[in-house]
Amino acid sequence: MGQSITFHKADKLKPKPDGSKPLGFGKFFTDYMFEMDYSMEEGWHDARIVPYGPISLDPAATIFHYGQEVFEGMKAYRTEDKRILLFRPDKNMERMNQSCARLNIPEIDEQFVIKAIKQLVAIEEKWIPNEPGQSLYIRPFIIGTDPALGVHPSSTYKLLIILSPVGSYFGDSMSPVKIYVEDEYVRAVKGGVGYAKTSGNYAASLKAQTKSEELGFDQVLWLDGVEHKYIEEVGSMNIFFKIDDEVWTPALNGSILPGVTRASVIELLQHWGVTVKEKKISVNKLFKKAEKQQLKEVFGTGTAAVISPVGFLKWNDKVIKVANGKTGKLSQKLYDTLTGIQNGKIKDELHWIQE
Ligand code: PMP
Repeated sequence: MGQSITFHKADKLKPKPDGSKPLGFGKFFTDYMFEMDYSMEEGWHDARIVPYGPISLDPAATIFHYGQEVFEGMKAYRTEDKRILLFRPDKNMERMNQSCARLNIPEIDEQFVIKAIKQLVAIEEKWIPNEPGQSLYIRPFIIGTDPALGVHPSSTYKLLIILSPVGSYFGDSMSPVKIYVEDEYVRAVKGGVGYAKTSGNYAASLKAQTKSEELGFDQVLWLDGVEHKYIEEVGSMNIFFKIDDEVWTPALNGSILPGVTRASVIELLQHWGVTVKEKKISVNKLFKKAEKQQLKEVFGTGTAAVISPVGFLKWNDKVIKVANGKTGKLSQKLYDTLTGIQNGKIKDELHWIQE
């Protein structure tokens, strides 16, 4: 795998989106993508950067029938002095290999894929948007490609990396979101694939997501898959609660995705001297804390959303309005600090940035 990466030039480049209009999330794709194949004989091989476009797969390919897939999500940021920064890419690659191990996919050479990401981003530098809150989203993913209908791990795979210039995930990035506590459907169970970043988890989430949107909410808050009592995470974010002067977040239990932003927020808070408790949190207890006015702030964390304050939480017939439906001080401070580190405006004291 200490291989070189070949480059295949595109005949024509695409027009870039108008930077003054909102980019939305994941709607535009750059001119090039990275591609690499795996076979039992050759391992991961044929690393190449090629023009972005459709790929050809056998209709019997494993990915279409049994969902053997893993993916990652990370971002490249441009600083005012035109440097390009990646935020903890090693953490994403470490998680990708944990997902691979669970999905029976051959592991990748983490450092080599980081090198591939850096080369691809450098080629696509002009696609990194400049406006505040904008960045270049990086989506590496691996799919099983064997044409075989027997339920078996594929023996061939494809790793692709695509790039998308993005704005904020929920419209205005710091306006508080409305969250619906889902108590019928569940996302994942311990022993399953909840901790892996794999497509099936998201397929399983769509029905509840649609239901919450129909009811006027932005995302779903998942409860545990067995008792439907304990809080797990939000659709594409981990969740944090400020209870009096402490910050609580559900402990990682095998069914929650271990977010890179989650880990970073915990480290930052501890660095600031704030007590963080990773624990089992029942939704009942949370609503009791809210009744007693002890629930001061709620926020989600994720690569796409960064820090997303939660203004409303609905569980059965109970509704909590958090921080008067406004962005809390701690949420704002975390957002400013994280985005500041990512944009190179705040000193990277915790050594998270790779240039
Ligand atoms: N939970 C889920 C289900 C997610 O999809 C994401 C987004 N990757 C997160 C949490 C947050 O993870 P991260 O901070 O690594 O983006």
